Amino acid sequence: MSSDLVRRIINNAKEEGRYKLLEHEAYDVLRVYGLPVPNAGLARSAEEAVKLSESVGYPVVLKVVSPDIVHKSDVGGVIVGLNSPSEVREAFNKIFKNVGERAPNAKVYGVLVQEMVPNGLEVIVGSTRDPTFGPLILFGLGGIFVEVLRDVSFRIVPLTRYDAETMIGEIKSAKILEGYRGQAPRDKKALVDILLKLSRFVEDVSEVKDVDLNPIMLYEVGRGAKIADARIILG
Ligand code: ADP
Ligand code: MG
Repeated sequence: MSSDLVRRIINNAKEEGRYKLLEHEAYDVLRVYGLPVPNAGLARSAEEAVKLSESVGYPVVLKVVSPDIVHKSDVGGVIVGLNSPSEVREAFNKIFKNVGERAPNAKVYGVLVQEMVPNGLEVIVGSTRDPTFGPLILFGLGGIFVEVLRDVSFRIVPLTRYDAETMIGEIKSAKILEGYRGQAPRDKKALVDILLKLSRFVEDVSEVKDVDLNPIMLYEVGRGAKIADARIILG
């Protein structure tokens, strides 16, 4: 185990009987491994959310934080593009209202106030543990590419740089990364870096069962990438 912070977060989740890290815990863990996570903090009241928005910097995104909710947007638990204290207050209350109606039994820890990251090409990087091969890393493009077309590639952990580079090139929609219809080519170096760091993480921390970074915003060449949503499930 590479860090006390990672250990502490995982032990704390276990003690609370949780198998899912809360989103801000997931970012804290991923940051230790050098992954590009957004600024974020947990708010328990609307006023706390306003304070955090100032330190995170407008515009912000608010998201419900609950170990019982897997798809936050399905229950009205994500509101993006908030530009002022009054919008943040309103969104905070709206999220509690939505979740109260659509997931009344969910235990809600609070609301995540997160930096709104610029739009990019949405990609997905994940990890799961195969009973035979051990941890695997998955890569695909976001939205319909993964959900409908199942256009993904896999590699066994630990990944080499060559593994990371070739798994990016082998999805059917790989050309999209090169730029198309006036879109700029994407920062594949940043993507390789994410794949290698995630490999390192799941190799190090054997309690991690699944990781889902969905979406990661991938920017133009030289501009890097930013994770916009992270889910970490413990075994
Ligand atoms: P879900 O649990 O529904 O997957 P997400 O955290 O992925 O919730 O949020 C839903 C969508 O909102 C994302 O797919 C992304 O398009 C957008 N989004 C979420 N967080 C951010 C952010 N920090 N900056 C910009 N867009 C975001
Ligand atoms: Mg998501």
